[in-house]
Amino acid sequence: MLIRIKLQRPKQRARFVHPMNPAPRTAILSPGFQNTRTVRVFPQGWGLSAQRFHPQSIAAPRAELRRIASQELRLEHAVIALTHPGEDGLSAADRDLFWRAFGVPVYEQYLDENNRVLAMECDAHSGLHVLRGCEDLHLEREACACGDRSPRVARGPRVDELVKLLA
Ligand SMILES: [Zn+2]
Repeated sequence: MLIRIKLQRPKQRARFVHPMNPAPRTAILSPGFQNTRTVRVFPQGWGLSAQRFHPQSIAAPRAELRRIASQELRLEHAVIALTHPGEDGLSAADRDLFWRAFGVPVYEQYLDENNRVLAMECDAHSGLHVLRGCEDLHLEREACACGDRSPRVARGPRVDELVKLLA
């Protein structure tokens, strides 16, 4: 009898790119990323194990950041909001909420469906610098205050949402 053993290929996990270098101790509250020396992945989101890790910085989808905004986390460094194609970028209200809740600068990262960085926000907080893709988005090519000359995308609420807000 022939027994076939199917080798399960581990799912590809993306390496998280922290906006600060070196990266502070960071909890990622979302699956699909690699653990590293300073970065720990908590696929279930914020909970006891993430608390015990005592992160100085967290990265999470916007919905998770909204969920934990009332939990009085004591962070020392950045909050990174992870957004994906098809989702809106952070709104001014999100940024305001996260700033008040976490007390540290907010950086948005725009990722593809495999969590690879498409564009990321810099210290100038003036759009997201494009690393790959984004051809279908409107690009800003003027020099950025941070010194990085790569084009940026302005993420934000979609136009239809803006129209609703202005109505
Ligand atoms: Zn910049």
